[in-house]
Amino acid sequence: MISIMVDKPTIKKDRLRGLGLISGGLDSLTACLLIKQQGIEVIGLNFKSPFCQYESRFDIFHEKLEIKIYCLSLGDDFLDIIRNPKFGYGRNLNPCVDCRIYILKKAKEFMKKIKADFIFTGEVLNQRPKSQHMKALKIVEKESGLEGKLLRPLSALHLKPTFYEEEGLIDRSKLMGIKGRSRKVQLDLAKEHGLLEEYFACGGCLLTDINFSNRMRDSLKFNNALKIGDMNILKYGRHFRFKNSKIIVGRNEIENNLLLQLKKPNDLIMEVQDVPGPITIIQDELNEEILKYAASLTLRYSDLEESKGKVVYGKDYQNLSKEIFSEIENDEILKKYILSFYILNIMELS
Ligand code: SF4
Repeated sequence: MISIMVDKPTIKKDRLRGLGLISGGLDSLTACLLIKQQGIEVIGLNFKSPFCQYESRFDIFHEKLEIKIYCLSLGDDFLDIIRNPKFGYGRNLNPCVDCRIYILKKAKEFMKKIKADFIFTGEVLNQRPKSQHMKALKIVEKESGLEGKLLRPLSALHLKPTFYEEEGLIDRSKLMGIKGRSRKVQLDLAKEHGLLEEYFACGGCLLTDINFSNRMRDSLKFNNALKIGDMNILKYGRHFRFKNSKIIVGRNEIENNLLLQLKKPNDLIMEVQDVPGPITIIQDELNEEILKYAASLTLRYSDLEESKGKVVYGKDYQNLSKEIFSEIENDEILKKYILSFYILNIMELS
């Protein structure tokens, strides 16, 4: 009789190592706690993203749970997911199910590198309408190639046992059955173990924001060669799409400095000569008409008291050697080019 060998990983319980996906918030913190309480070594993995405005509390993970956290960055391939998500978008441009799959696939590769035995997350059943209902959790698990092997310690008791629970490597009776949006159980647990005194909001993802999504859609439409790093500049300044050109005007000194740091080598820099005002960045196409419009915007947001003035421009901020005289267009004309894409900025003009 021929016996068939089943390919099962051989894992020793006393040397089990879990890789936890860590946003830095309360859910991932308590998920790590539950795994650590079983005497299992935990390594953390955080994904850096230009879209995340997380206020992470990595200090608690380091200091109180003694967890080492590695950071990976989203790759340019994440933009393909935003362009064309297999499982669709949430309310705005957030492709949550595809995003989870993407991250877990990367975590799976990373798990091999650090010789971890399993992956766990701080996901909670029904906490998020788009990506954490039962069907979505199953899709994410299957599509990431982690079927039966993705542990969600906070909601485990509502889910089918994983391979690790079935094999007795992880004690299911010490996992939890949390579901829904309330964070009360997690907070109580964190308080009980001296990890936190009070809840802190972990921030959010810009892809769920309508105004940022509008900026993002515009960039995707006009630029096929986007890089993930190009997304950072979308967070700062007033954005205008004039013909095929993108014009970004700083709102204050901090944004002016950021725009100078984030601009690409071929972008043009413009400012009003001898008058305090914005840094303006001009991207993509360039011609006389675009320069004139950008100059008008730059003058409009400066401290200039007259209706016309001189701006200087160039690619090197230390050497803005070209100049152009322009008049400030009336706000009706300026609004026209914002209205097409950026609702937020209409308020700023008035
Ligand atoms: S909210 Fe943003 S970071 Fe979170 S799953 Fe959705 S797309 Fe990904």
